[in-house]
Amino acid sequence: MRVDTDPYLERYAARVRGMRASEIRALFAVASRPEVVSFAGGMPDTSVLDMEAVEAVTAQVIREDGATALQYGGGQGREQLRELLVEVMRHEGVPGRTDELIVTVGGQQALELIAKCFVDPGDIVLAEGPTYVGGLGALNSHQAEVRHIDMDADGLRIDLLEDELARIAADGRRPKLLYTIPNHQNPAGVSLTVERRHRLAELAEQHDLLILEDNPYGLLDFAGRTNPSLRELIPDRVVYVGTVSKTIAPGLRTGWIAAPAPIRDKLVLLREAADLCPSNLTQMIVERWLVSQPWREQIKRFTTVYHEKAEAMLGSLSEHMPDGVDWTVPAGAFYVWLTVPAGIDTSDLLAKAVNHRVAYVPGRGFYADGNGGQQARLCFSYPEVARIGDGVARLGELLHEELDLVRAVFGDDVPPARRRHEGPTGNRGG
Ligand code: PMP
Repeated sequence: MRVDTDPYLERYAARVRGMRASEIRALFAVASRPEVVSFAGGMPDTSVLDMEAVEAVTAQVIREDGATALQYGGGQGREQLRELLVEVMRHEGVPGRTDELIVTVGGQQALELIAKCFVDPGDIVLAEGPTYVGGLGALNSHQAEVRHIDMDADGLRIDLLEDELARIAADGRRPKLLYTIPNHQNPAGVSLTVERRHRLAELAEQHDLLILEDNPYGLLDFAGRTNPSLRELIPDRVVYVGTVSKTIAPGLRTGWIAAPAPIRDKLVLLREAADLCPSNLTQMIVERWLVSQPWREQIKRFTTVYHEKAEAMLGSLSEHMPDGVDWTVPAGAFYVWLTVPAGIDTSDLLAKAVNHRVAYVPGRGFYADGNGGQQARLCFSYPEVARIGDGVARLGELLHEELDLVRAVFGDDVPPARRRHEGPTGNRGG
């Protein structure tokens, strides 16, 4: 149903009227056919998990305390789980106390609750450009004015952030939040350097800036390295979001927020209005997992697999991409951010790519301002290693063909990429 023929249009809240699904969403249905190598969904490779262990842990929860597992719980989440999540944070060097945490339904609910807590329509929220689709979805649903700050290989450009903060102040305004994913960013695949983290912390102090630090991938560094968190540097200015989606499994829908006490109290009230409480059953499964399984080893197993897949993708990109195509080199997690030459539009190209049996997410989905037409996100975490090379080869072949066409039409006079607004691409698997 097109929005302009929607008979309920007049009845929707203002924040809902402008929401529409991207036309690209339909293509993703085709992209999930088995013959297509899909680099689209940001999905963990759950086949790496020891399913017998998952089964045993789940059965044990029901056997030992089924009545509690199937009952309502508290709005902040179970204390036993919060204690264990503090340990998970500590494994990465992120400080936290049990009472500062709220268990959420994945990191996504955390982002939505934080947006609801802070964003009035028209409020400015700063975010990396590009940024996580689901983060944009949460911010857009509260009608934030998202302003992007570019990144480079060292993460968010702090110099550009400083310029933007000065511009906003000169207009007599103030940003509500900076939304940042400092580690192995989705979709750019880059991390903020230590030096820039310190500069960001200083800038936040100077400008009285509140930061939403979203950290699903910090433990997925291929070399097992960790970086100082913003929460560690400026705890009073950071609302931190974690999730077990990438370190255990997204099907558990378990994430958390660590926030200063007054913010935590507001967020608990908002969450109770949304869903009363997180599922005791899944919380207890996560607890059992963390108590009884070698979870640190499991994370290493994940990163070993992802490292191998990243190498496969990077090797194939070097082999198959035409000159003028550029990409980021991730040191962890799931993503490579691809830039194609002027004249090629990744949104327009997707249908042809799917015909070539390869899929990606066009870059525009990761911007609120219509940019990203020359970019695409390639996620290597899910396809089997053996198929990654095939997928990249097919994409390379297509880009060669497209570039020949562009040269035939425009010669050396290629027009720059157009800004074009697209609705959310949908958030199928991050
Ligand atoms: N933030 C980022 C940056 C993500 O990439 C994702 C998932 N892909 C999430 C948050 C949310 O994940 P979940 O709800 O599964 O915890």
